[in-house]
Amino acid sequence: MFEIIDLKAILIVFMIFVPLEHLVPLHEGRRYLRRAFVTDLLHLLVTGLLFKIGFLIFVGACMMAIDSAVPSIIGETVRAQPIWLQTIEVIVISDVGFYVAHRTLHSVPFLWRFHAIHHSIEELDALAAHRVHPLDQLFVKATSLLPIYALGFSVWPIIIAGLIYQWQALLIHSNIRIGFGPFKWVVASPLFHHWHHANEPAAIDKNFAGQLSIIDAIFGTMYMPEAMPTKYGTDEPVPDAYFRQLAYPFTRPKRPPIASDLQMAELNHDQSN
Ligand SMILES: [Zn+2]
Ligand SMILES: [Zn+2]
Repeated sequence: MFEIIDLKAILIVFMIFVPLEHLVPLHEGRRYLRRAFVTDLLHLLVTGLLFKIGFLIFVGACMMAIDSAVPSIIGETVRAQPIWLQTIEVIVISDVGFYVAHRTLHSVPFLWRFHAIHHSIEELDALAAHRVHPLDQLFVKATSLLPIYALGFSVWPIIIAGLIYQWQALLIHSNIRIGFGPFKWVVASPLFHHWHHANEPAAIDKNFAGQLSIIDAIFGTMYMPEAMPTKYGTDEPVPDAYFRQLAYPFTRPKRPPIASDLQMAELNHDQSN
């Protein structure tokens, strides 16, 4: 789990998703070595490792607290269910947790500074899916997985749901033209998540779910026109360089002066003369 180089993640992106993105592209004419390619590659290699270290320390401590607080009868009852039912429950419960954490990242200004790194992607593809600040990942994974651990699900449903999540996370960011038909109203698709990344007023703060788009339909936050968005990214001034992105949430950039600032400066100047 804690390998320095995540060879599996590299192989999945470059041996499976990159060829598909060129064979059946959603947006035509993308260059292979696009802008921010190196930044996203470093997110795949380094951020993944930072996240795993943080996960081991923080989530490990939370798990120990849960072990002593939750009665064992809950886990015994949950594990008595069939594996297929537990798998569905793990997907639903963890994605409700994902939805809550993701929506919180968008609505709390300090947390948005971490999540803005992910929304700075202007060319969506499977490699760009890895551009997530490690503390953003830690917050979302802890919120979505700790309830699963507390309820005491069996290991196999967690492994199966985890594998489905990993592939779906890459697919919904990818530049692959694939339609989900009527299932798009229930399951998160590239169309659904590409609209989450669209830099268009109607799409802001929409489509928060990671796996089940129906959660957004239930909470009234779904936005999914038939056409794909054309403009991605955020107006937040996120830097391009990898290490500056890691530091960005802690280094509040000066905003450009606005009209009221200039009027106040003039007033102070007049009073001092
Ligand atoms: Zn978001
Ligand atoms: Zn995304």
